[in-house]
Amino acid sequence: MSAETTDKIHDVVIVGSGPAGYTAGIYTGRANLNPVILASSVKAGGELMNTTDVENFPGFPEGIMGPDLMANLEQQAERFGAQIEFEDVVEAELEGEVKTLTTGSGDVYKARAVIISTGSAYRELGLPREKELSGYGVSWCATCDGFFFKDQDIAVIGGGDSAMEEALFLTKFARSVTLVHRRNEFRASRVMVDRATANEKIRFELDAEVAEILGENKVEGLVLRSTVDGSTRELNVTGMFVAIGADPRTDLVKGVLDLTPEGTIATQGRSSKTNVSGVFAAGDVVDPTYRQAITSAGSGCVAAIDVEHFLADQS
Ligand code: NAP
Repeated sequence: MSAETTDKIHDVVIVGSGPAGYTAGIYTGRANLNPVILASSVKAGGELMNTTDVENFPGFPEGIMGPDLMANLEQQAERFGAQIEFEDVVEAELEGEVKTLTTGSGDVYKARAVIISTGSAYRELGLPREKELSGYGVSWCATCDGFFFKDQDIAVIGGGDSAMEEALFLTKFARSVTLVHRRNEFRASRVMVDRATANEKIRFELDAEVAEILGENKVEGLVLRSTVDGSTRELNVTGMFVAIGADPRTDLVKGVLDLTPEGTIATQGRSSKTNVSGVFAAGDVVDPTYRQAITSAGSGCVAAIDVEHFLADQS
């Protein structure tokens, strides 16, 4: 039997379970709004589930593991009465006074207010066999797959904090890690670049991009192309970790909610209000710039307070 069988209209349903979604759950729970969090069936907890040490989330002087932080946030939301369902929303009818969200298992949730906090999805390089070789040498998650590359030579692609973090983590397993970046300046923070530079297992291929993945059924090397003169050369690696950022997940709301030129959901001023009354957005899905766990959590708090005010004005 379906978990949601009645025609009950909830005060608020939150879509997504990263720091924004769970924080919105904590705040709306404490405001007695009995939130439902639709937390995704496979990606509950969001991107932090793929992270190791989170050193910069305030309140944890020794740092905390990403999955532990998310487990804490989940428990904290539950403590204030949030109903968490590990379901994927496949359809959203957001216009009108009562919003309707349908999940992959066919459950239908109705609500007077909705918070969209669907986060972002890993970017792909767009190479012909990149997807096909996922799990056969190509990966987007060092914490998930690093162990399989013990004593091997591998590459990490990207020049941001994620690439530095992945490269540093992979040195625990790999013989060598080559960081391939398309420019000779990094987007990553100084502290992360310094750590990577100081690690003797990490080498750098700058002004270079991946032109081709070599190998039939698994990665056996990469062809790198210089972004300066177009010359190519082979890099002898058995693994490639792609860490080139992420794009906001807006598929559910495209055509209904206004988007910004960067592809994030457009919100009004400093609020979480979208162009549709009763629909709010928070976290990475609205943020093309900062994209930190703490800014995402803060944005979830803003959305919860906006929902409180919205519902109070309605009654
Ligand atoms: P990011 O900062 O957007 O960096 C993406 C990197 O990938 C850039 O260096 C970019 O190159 C490169 N890139 C993008 N598309 C590419 C393509 N098609 N081919 C080759 N290279 C490509 O993304 P991020 O590293 O995932 O970080 C996202 C946010 O999370 C940032 O705010 C970051 O500070 C934060 N973060 C923080 C930590 C931490 O503090 N420990 C860890 C992870 C992430 P260009 O530089 O040339 O554009």
